[in-house]
Amino acid sequence: MTGEKMLKTAILGSTGSVGTQALDVARNNPNIKITALTANKSVAAVEAQIREFSPRLVAMENEEAAKDLRVRVADSGTKVLSGREGVAELIAETEADAFVNSVIGFDGLFSTLEVIKTGKRLALSNKESIVAAGEAVMALAKKSGTEILPVDSEHCAIHQCLRTGEHVEIRKLIITASGGPFYGKTKEELEGVTLAEALAHPTWSMGKKITIDSATLMNKGFEVIEAARLFNVSSDKIDVVVHPESIIHSMVEYIDSAVIAQMSVPDMRLCVAYALNYPDRVFGATPPLDLIKTGALTFKAPDPETFPLLGLAFRALKDGKTRPAVLNAANEVAVNAFLREEIAFSNIPEVVFAAYEKTPEHSELTVESVYAADGEARRIAAEVISAIKK
Ligand code: MG
Repeated sequence: MTGEKMLKTAILGSTGSVGTQALDVARNNPNIKITALTANKSVAAVEAQIREFSPRLVAMENEEAAKDLRVRVADSGTKVLSGREGVAELIAETEADAFVNSVIGFDGLFSTLEVIKTGKRLALSNKESIVAAGEAVMALAKKSGTEILPVDSEHCAIHQCLRTGEHVEIRKLIITASGGPFYGKTKEELEGVTLAEALAHPTWSMGKKITIDSATLMNKGFEVIEAARLFNVSSDKIDVVVHPESIIHSMVEYIDSAVIAQMSVPDMRLCVAYALNYPDRVFGATPPLDLIKTGALTFKAPDPETFPLLGLAFRALKDGKTRPAVLNAANEVAVNAFLREEIAFSNIPEVVFAAYEKTPEHSELTVESVYAADGEARRIAAEVISAIKK
């Protein structure tokens, strides 16, 4: 199929890395009509997006940014809403058939929950909402009829591989990892790495937060939790393998030992196009893969000593309830402190482990307990960081 039907789409978090790539997909596919956009405060970027895509609705989370934007686009037909209520109103009111949630961090859970209320398709790039509140999110989505299509290269790959077999026939989901910029280094060698070195990802161009998460392998840990929730498999059925070329985006091994892999050039636009058009495929979502130029594909084991956060993610998945939310919150606080150059790269796991141990457990997983655990873990992680800085 070439996707001739009109796809009305809203992009939530339209100025980040995946948000702008989603708009690029719309730019190259005239059947995608952008109905609404949300952003935090990047007024100039959103103004340019309004001029190009003419969405009927826009919401800026930041009130001042909304005021500024209203003045700038007074000549357009776009209505500018503001604050959390504005985001909720936009999601409820827009005539979109599907939403791309590319908000960065735990904040994206709000948009995920609002989209689920509509029962419409959710192309989900905000993995933190599935990591922190996965079981609650999946249950609510099932109830409302929202179909969640992952916009994360590994999960998009697994989604495609799973079309070749039955759920009961899955032996393992094999998630590939590029290894990030520090694969092959020892724990000691990571002590002196700089912010610039940590931000230099070898194969993927991404936002700052996820690039640091890739360098610590926390991102891979989150993807293990994300896969368990999205595809309803237990932690013992998920493996991680380092594949530095980032050509195979993940695999599914079936009970007969057949392994199905999905390959393509590393480009998120394939995932966005797949999530919006599924079960159809669109022509030329990314440039074709040149196998001869690509050459050898290699696979190695992850190093649990140098990258302990991957192991902690498996533990949080087994601990269940609000523990993945605690892991996510502690990591977000630690990464932001590293991005502000308040702590060293090697302090990130230290802060996350300490906050994980110190944050109390909740007896059940609900949306409310996730928000409570998130707040507690953030406060405790901030305390750990101030102790390190002294
Ligand atoms: Mg990924």
